[in-house]
Amino acid sequence: MPELPEVETTRRGLEPHLAGQTILRLTVRDPRLRWPIDARLPQLLAGQQVAAVQRRAKYLLLRLTHGTVLWHLGMSGSLRVVPSDLPVDPHDHIDLTLTAGHTVRFNDPRRFGSLIYVTGDPQAHPLLAKLAPEPFDPAFDADYLWRATRRRKVSVKQLIMNGQVVTGVGNIYASEVLFQAGIRPRRRSRSLKREEAARLVGAIRKVLKRAIRVGGTTLRDYVNPDGNPGYFRQKLYVYERSGEPCRICGTPIRSLTQGQRSTYYCPVCQK
Ligand SMILES: [Zn+2]
Repeated sequence: MPELPEVETTRRGLEPHLAGQTILRLTVRDPRLRWPIDARLPQLLAGQQVAAVQRRAKYLLLRLTHGTVLWHLGMSGSLRVVPSDLPVDPHDHIDLTLTAGHTVRFNDPRRFGSLIYVTGDPQAHPLLAKLAPEPFDPAFDADYLWRATRRRKVSVKQLIMNGQVVTGVGNIYASEVLFQAGIRPRRRSRSLKREEAARLVGAIRKVLKRAIRVGGTTLRDYVNPDGNPGYFRQKLYVYERSGEPCRICGTPIRSLTQGQRSTYYCPVCQK
């Protein structure tokens, strides 16, 4: 599933191909995504110029002349920039074609993605309005996270994956973040010391930044018609490494299940 770093990588890959460009047409081959695509959308988008490509949590925001497209990749979606005449695959559900001759093509085998057009302030839209701070937002600091832990009995892994506490920490990165912070995933949030909350904030930023940076090396995939999205190519320390030696201390990595999701940790490096 695309997590925040993949979405940010996608944003950075798309922006140079979209900003300043004019939309020739929107082609919807299958409107049955997470929510049915508004049948008026092709007419609404045609002729509009793309001012910028932004991101909020896992939503891409295409800021247009008169409104904003909120594009979510869902479970299996990916966006690529292709020549407009490239033959389509069965799961290529949407094309956004620019007057310059290239197309942003949306492929989504499981169809959990979404495409919504809003006018007015997109941050006020119900899908975005109640989201927690971005991990790189100055409002997300040690004080904020420490205060959030005081109210909650859940495990620290569930805390950092809670989109109402901080956006963008999915299952893979949660294990990596806790390894980086040296904190066991099953610790009760309330047991965290202030200094540990500070370490956690630093680890969240570091792990996501590294993932975005490595994702950056696969940017060409988004302009290469036969490229893969290239998710998760970065070096992972614990995720899916059960039984393999810890890259720091050599102890076999352990796994457990929390909230029906797999968690990986080093029993020595994490306390
Ligand atoms: Zn270790």
